[in-house]
Amino acid sequence: MPGSNSVVSIFDDLKMIRPPSPYWPESANVYVFKDGDGISFFDVGCGSVASADRLFNALKFLKWEARPIKKIILSHAHPDHMGAMEILLSGVSPGHIILHEIDIPYALDPEKLPLSFDIPLCKERWTETGDQGKEVEKGPGFDLIAYFRSLGCAMCRVKPDRTVVEGDTIQVDDYDFNVFHTPGHAPGHMSLYDPGKRLLLAGDILGEMVAWYAPSSGGAEGYLGSLNKVGNLDIDLILPSHGSVIVDATKAIQETREKILERDIVITKALQAGPKTFEELNRLLFDSPSVQFFPGTPILESHLQKLKDEKSILMEVCKDGGTLYRG
Ligand SMILES: [Zn+2]
Ligand SMILES: [Zn+2]
Repeated sequence: MPGSNSVVSIFDDLKMIRPPSPYWPESANVYVFKDGDGISFFDVGCGSVASADRLFNALKFLKWEARPIKKIILSHAHPDHMGAMEILLSGVSPGHIILHEIDIPYALDPEKLPLSFDIPLCKERWTETGDQGKEVEKGPGFDLIAYFRSLGCAMCRVKPDRTVVEGDTIQVDDYDFNVFHTPGHAPGHMSLYDPGKRLLLAGDILGEMVAWYAPSSGGAEGYLGSLNKVGNLDIDLILPSHGSVIVDATKAIQETREKILERDIVITKALQAGPKTFEELNRLLFDSPSVQFFPGTPILESHLQKLKDEKSILMEVCKDGGTLYRG
């Protein structure tokens, strides 16, 4: 039966459409709700031909009509979560597209995404460290938008019909969601919590892997704050935007928190042993030069900012203009 392998039943009226590929950006889950005489979505996938086919096949398998679309809620304005929007809405007037207000500029104009990914910082640091000329997938000439396109993401522009902030509520059929602003990975990232069903639609902050984070998206500090926020909720089930359903919420939140804090520990231990440059620290945290470029650079910068704020480390500019970090 087409679509049967990719549909995970959460409840009778809520299904997860699971991509077969664990690889980003194809790996984003789509959640679809039976919503009165129509359907609603939480995230819609990257918009590649395969992911769009999967989405429509899943609806056929469920015998749920693809129209009318009542609501499309986006956890954040990254292309792996919203690329399918054009395909989904083709030929029909947009329904109610809902997004956190901070992510609006990136939804309206994906060309702005390199800013919230801190790509200019990656290029600046790369030049500083004198690593130009290395054969790497990502480096000074890196074009984030072209990269997304090369991976099959549709880079569509999305105009939200309703913008929300923390404390707002979103109703989808008999689900009553509270909006939680959960930055770190994206500046306007949000998670939705239904207290009656003790259900958390986490977006990217919890899941198979720790999401990357960048100073412009809230950084390590923002990410940990987001985890603290959802850690205070009574949760029976976490539905992540990448990976499988999570039943042990406390464990998942704690493990994610520990993985982030582990990077603080690696940095402070290394600096206690002696001063280090940005590049030396980046190499300690990440193996490959491509990963050091992105997301290594914004992740490391996030931790350095956090540790400086906490007065755990010092930063000094040397005579040659380079920066040295001390414990
Ligand atoms: Zn994302
Ligand atoms: Zn994602």
